[in-house]
Amino acid sequence: MTDYARHEHHDFLGATAQALHDEPLQAALTRLTDVLMAANRRGYAALPGSDQLRDHAKAIKEHTLAHLDRYLRELETSVMALGGHVHWALNAEDARKIIVDIAAKAKCKKAVKSKSMTTEEIHLNPALEAAGIEVAETDYGEFIIQLAGERPSHLVAPAVHHTRESICRILSQHVGYAVPDDPKTLALTGRRLLREKFRQADLAISGANFGVAQTGTIVLVTNEGNGRLTTTWPRVHVALMGMEKVIPRFTDLPVFLKLLARAATGQTLSVYTTVITGPRKPGELDGPEEFHLVLLDNGRSRILGTPYRESLQCIRCGACLNACPVYRRIGGHAYGGVYSGPIGSVLTPLYDSVTENKHLPHASSLCGACQSACPIRINIPHMLIGLRELQHHEKRSWGEDLAYRLWKEVLKRPWLYRLALRLAQVGSRPLAKQGWMRWLPGPGGNWTSVRDFPAPAKRSFREQWDEVKDG
Ligand code: SF4
Repeated sequence: MTDYARHEHHDFLGATAQALHDEPLQAALTRLTDVLMAANRRGYAALPGSDQLRDHAKAIKEHTLAHLDRYLRELETSVMALGGHVHWALNAEDARKIIVDIAAKAKCKKAVKSKSMTTEEIHLNPALEAAGIEVAETDYGEFIIQLAGERPSHLVAPAVHHTRESICRILSQHVGYAVPDDPKTLALTGRRLLREKFRQADLAISGANFGVAQTGTIVLVTNEGNGRLTTTWPRVHVALMGMEKVIPRFTDLPVFLKLLARAATGQTLSVYTTVITGPRKPGELDGPEEFHLVLLDNGRSRILGTPYRESLQCIRCGACLNACPVYRRIGGHAYGGVYSGPIGSVLTPLYDSVTENKHLPHASSLCGACQSACPIRINIPHMLIGLRELQHHEKRSWGEDLAYRLWKEVLKRPWLYRLALRLAQVGSRPLAKQGWMRWLPGPGGNWTSVRDFPAPAKRSFREQWDEVKDG
C-alpha cells in the first residue's frame, strides 16, 4: 500500500550524480534559472523602496506567526460568516480524509486542480483516485508531469526538467498521434484537452497563496488562468491551505503581491490574481455552491516554537531555487521531497525527519544567494547550519568525539598547539605539492576525493607575526 504520509526517502547522492550527467536537464536548468534570476534582480531594482517593502513583508509575517492562533480563528470566523466551511487537519492523513469525505458527500466524481504544492505535500491525488475520483491537473506544467507520472521539480515551474521535445513526446503518447513540435500547437493541444476536463468537473481543488483573516478571502496567484476556471466552474471548491499562509488584513495583501511575482519571475504582477470570498451568492453567475477551506498543520505548529520558525514565512516564490548553485546543477527531483532547493532542504527534514533526510542540510554551499533572492529575506543558511548541528548532536561517532576532545586540549595549551603545527608541517611534506595536498589517508580521503586540501604553510602566522612585531 502506498505510504502517503511520508516523503520519499531516496538515494540523494545517486540522484545527484545522475542529474549531473543528464545533459538535457543541465541545459533546461541553466536556461530557466538564468532567465528567472535575471528577472528577479530586475524586478527588485525596478521597484521603488523594494528593501523597505521586503522588511515590511517580513514584519507582517513575524507578527502573524507570533499571533497565529488568533489569526487562524479570525480566518475561520470570517470564512464561515460568508457561508463557507472550515476544516482543521492535523496531518496529511487527516487532510486527505477530510477532502475525500467532502467529495463523497457531495457525490463528486471528476476533479480539476490548480497548482498547489500543499496538495503535493499531502499526496492528495493518489488518495482521490483510490476513492474513485478522476483528477486532472490544470496548470500546463503540472498537466504534463501528471501525464508523465512524475513529481514537480520546481516550486513555480513544475516541469522545468522537460524540454519542448519531451513535452511533445508525452502529449503525442497521450493523444495517440504525433503532435507537431511547435510551442503554439503544444499549448493549443493542452488547452483543448483541459477545456474538456473543466467542462466535466464537479469538484475544484486549489491551494491558497494567502488567506486573509479579516475578510475570509482566499487568494490564488497564477499565470495561466487555470486557477480561475478551476474555482468558478465546478459546484464544490476545496482550498487546502498551510496554516502559515494566513495574513491579518486585506491591506497586507498588496505588500506580498508586489513581491511574489517580482521574486518568482520578475513580473510586476502575476497575470491572474484570483480573490475568492465565499461560495456563490444569490444572483451571482458563477462560483461554487459549496466552499471548503482545509487548514493544514502537518508539522507546522511543531516548528513554530523552534529556531526554524522563520521557515514558516516562506511564500513559495521559488527565487531561492533559481539562485542556488546546488539546485541549478541538480534540479528538484534529486532532493527527493516535495519541496526542493534551499527552502526544501530546510522544510523536508523539518516536516518529515532530520535523520531520514541526512544529506539535505548539506546540499548547500552556504553562499547566501538564497537569502539575497528571497523576498522575505529568510535566513536559510542559518537554518541549514542549525540542522547540521542537530544531526551532529544526534549522531556523533566516538572517533569524532575523541578528536574534538583532543583538539580542545591542544587549543588550551599554546606550546602544544605550536608542537602540533610543527608536526603537521613535517608530516604533510611528502604529500604537499605547490601548497596543496591532492590525497589524504584515512577519513581525510573523503575530502580529497572531491577537492584538494591546503597544505600547512611553511611558516605559520605566529612565526611571521613575531618577526613583524619585533621589527
Ligand atoms: S524561502 Fe524565500 S525565496 Fe525561497 S521560496 Fe520561500 S519565499 Fe521564495
